Amino acid sequence: MWTKLRRKDALARERVQPLKPSTCLRCGYVNPREARFCLKCGYPLTVEAVREVERLREPIDRFLSLLMEDSRIREISKLREKMGRRCEH
Ligand SMILES: [Zn+2]
Repeated sequence: MWTKLRRKDALARERVQPLKPSTCLRCGYVNPREARFCLKCGYPLTVEAVREVERLREPIDRFLSLLMEDSRIREISKLREKMGRRCEH
């Protein structure tokens, strides 16, 4: 009886997350079914993964655009570029 219930539970879980390989929409790579992101290019393969990426990217984008609005930051990045070039040679 108990095992029967557990089996039913496992079947229900399978329906929520179909067990099939997920082909990447961007590069066409066939990923293992448990992969949430493409192993080749990192493209999100599930709806949850897409949401996760968006959730993480949004505050970073906001932060970066705030930074770039600051003229001092722009000066610093220009200086860093110059210094980097000097160090290379
Ligand atoms: Zn890919």
